[in-house]
Amino acid sequence: ANRAASRFSTVGASATYAVFDQVAALRAQGVEVLDLGGGEPDFDTPEHIVDEAVGALHDGFTHYTPSRGVPALLQAVADKLAKDNGVLVDPASGVVVTPSAKHALFAALMTVLDPGDELLVPTPSWVSYTAMARLIGAQPVQVALDGANGFRITRELLEQHVSPRTKALLVNSPNNPTGRALTLEEARAVSQFAAEHDVLLIADEIYEKILYDGTEHLSLASLSCCADRTITVNGFSKGYAMTGWRLGYAAGPTDLMAQLLKVAQHTVGCAGSFVQRAGVAALTGPQEPVQEMARAYAARRDLVVSGLNSLPGVACSPPDGAFYAFADIRATDFPDAATFTQWLLRETGVALMPGTAFGPGGEGYVRLSFATSPRVLREAVERMGRALGGRA
Ligand code: PLP
Repeated sequence: ANRAASRFSTVGASATYAVFDQVAALRAQGVEVLDLGGGEPDFDTPEHIVDEAVGALHDGFTHYTPSRGVPALLQAVADKLAKDNGVLVDPASGVVVTPSAKHALFAALMTVLDPGDELLVPTPSWVSYTAMARLIGAQPVQVALDGANGFRITRELLEQHVSPRTKALLVNSPNNPTGRALTLEEARAVSQFAAEHDVLLIADEIYEKILYDGTEHLSLASLSCCADRTITVNGFSKGYAMTGWRLGYAAGPTDLMAQLLKVAQHTVGCAGSFVQRAGVAALTGPQEPVQEMARAYAARRDLVVSGLNSLPGVACSPPDGAFYAFADIRATDFPDAATFTQWLLRETGVALMPGTAFGPGGEGYVRLSFATSPRVLREAVERMGRALGGRA
């Protein structure tokens, strides 16, 4: 008999963790794997942030905090949203600090979706949105974006997937896995669609600090028509290289945040106390380390994109942001992306993610993470070149 709840019948295990496990197993056998499958900065957390956490620990700042978050962090988040994003929220009622952006997303979905409600998710997308929606009994509706159109969100595509049960639309920019950043034109299409169908918006902006070629980040909540219907989710993992700290936040309209706070109160209590102090240091301290990391990603992006484009049958547009290259492999002689990535791992020890892991629209693409050293990236491209050349 199935002892777990029926909600799991439609939830698969995480495809990214599957590759992670495969890499670990190969390494245990002594294979030298170049892992470009995962998605975390290889940089250490900037020193001043670490120092603040260590100081907080020694100060005995080791107790529960208010569930919403420590006041200094709520203020720092509200100030940051106003300054960087043009998003105005009240620190005392419009922000909830969470242990990770992942938990902020889960809490946001829990806040807005009833069982049976539909959540529109443009794909290819990060793997957890659809799983989270299903875990809370809602129905994810994937909106396949077209690679030939640069994975742009269009009004037409949204209209094709809307229904009377559509409650919310999730927009991730800069995007994992495509690397696309939302344009003003797309944001307008989203906002008009949302207003017309009375749909709430959840904006995942976790890669905001990692943008290239002068691309500017656009927050949906900064558009006057979206401000009252958008929950903005962000965190510290990517921009500040703080993946293991687990710190994020949700911000938005007071009525929704009051309910989201209940999710936080009843599921986690609060984010780590000293971790929150580190978050204040991250937001209010020097931003040079963030800019330095972004510059390093930019150099790696150029290296990887030109490397990929030199491979037979592979084409890759430079991403606007995040640290992923999403490459089109349809001109190779592999029947699908998963066959390609499995072959590549076996033949060369290079681990990539098949685009299919990210939902409809990802078929024929592979995702390569360049949050790793240029040496590893060069070696990976070389191995790929040798293996693909050997087949030609
Ligand atoms: N959103 C996207 C698009 C991500 O890629 C990730 C991490 O992989 C997250 C959210 C989660 O970030 P956090 O580490 O804050 O949970």
